[in-house]
Amino acid sequence: MFRAFLIKYAEIGVKGKNKYLFEEALAQQIKYALKRCEGEFKITRTDGRIYVHALSEFDYDETVDNLKTVFGISGICPVVYIEDEGYEKLAAALVAYVDKVYEDKNITFKVHARRARKNYPMNSMELNRELGGAILDAFPQMRVDVHHPEVMLHVEIREKIYLYSMEIPGPGGMPVGSNGKAMLLLSGGIDSPVAGYMIAKRGVKIDAVYFHAPPYTSDRAKQKVVDLAKLVSRYAGPVYLHVINFTDIQLYIYEKCPHEEFTIIMRRYMMKIAELIAKQNDCLGLITGESIGQVASQTVQSLAVTNEVCSLPVFRPLIGFDKMEIVEVSEKIGTYETSILPYEDCCTIFVAKHPVTKPNLNVIKRHEQNLEEKIEELVQKALDTDELIVAKWT
Ligand code: ATP
Ligand code: MG
Repeated sequence: MFRAFLIKYAEIGVKGKNKYLFEEALAQQIKYALKRCEGEFKITRTDGRIYVHALSEFDYDETVDNLKTVFGISGICPVVYIEDEGYEKLAAALVAYVDKVYEDKNITFKVHARRARKNYPMNSMELNRELGGAILDAFPQMRVDVHHPEVMLHVEIREKIYLYSMEIPGPGGMPVGSNGKAMLLLSGGIDSPVAGYMIAKRGVKIDAVYFHAPPYTSDRAKQKVVDLAKLVSRYAGPVYLHVINFTDIQLYIYEKCPHEEFTIIMRRYMMKIAELIAKQNDCLGLITGESIGQVASQTVQSLAVTNEVCSLPVFRPLIGFDKMEIVEVSEKIGTYETSILPYEDCCTIFVAKHPVTKPNLNVIKRHEQNLEEKIEELVQKALDTDELIVAKWT
């Protein structure tokens, strides 16, 4: 019976030209989400409203599920539309709508009519009154409550007449593409996919980089990261994933630097290389899944030392989250099951038993001088291994 959806979005901060860009981005993301649904759809924008119209048969649940992945949507209202064939037909259609949607008639309601076309022979006030009366005649158990109705029956007079009353919550946030682009350091763990999801939710388009260390990390570990990128792309849109061969750099650090500083120095090189790729791809920031104190390389001191190599801002949306809270989000967005697959990611091979937890920047920099001879060449070589994989949710 539903033929369309009215898409509601939060308008906070969406003004002037921004509003147009916001709606553009939202329509784009809705299109991407609907591509994976059965059926044909059209998106229209009229006086500050976005509608999704079904042009063919479609699967209601599938469509709603996919719309729920589009950041920027605050609510999804399924719409019934009818031809304008006079008031009597409209009243009958509204009564039929109520009968179908609300099995239990012990509810309070209010009719809210709105004319997008002023040539309709009755005004909004008259429509509210007459249609309210028609509902009461049909279902005497129902009661009108003009202040706090349980059900608001919306009647929109357009070329056709739209009826809706339900609002399914959307994910909120802002449409991807409305807030620039950032580079996610994506590993096979639990945290970084969640971090990517959270920044995408603020409207930021996501590129990703994965540091692969064959033969120490397997092809299955790489595939797992590709799969995680696909899962993130369900919300974030297509993710351009750069796979960088990091083995020689790791081996060189391992050979030349104190082992208890291995992880922190490696992290500095990851950030450095990620930033280079970010800048080549118009990314305005980096994203990591770090959270204070989670491991030795995420103490406040370690984070400061890692951060020092970057000139772009580093977004760490999980910084204040406990592991439990991160797991909760990863379960909700569907990345958890993949994240906990047991394939090693690249840091686990060389990690020291007792890594430094309070690194001193000057000491670290001094030890990095041991790398002077070959590191620039190795960084360039690593950049040359860049394999681009476009991860898409299908
Ligand atoms: P995650 O669960 O995201 O793997 P983690 O708790 O295992 O995080 P670390 O391994 O210390 O923490 O990594 C911290 C962050 O560094 C990760 O969240 C991710 O953003 C980035 N990172 C770690 N390893 C890699 C890698 N091999 N490739 C790309 N980014 C990585
Ligand atoms: Mg990890």
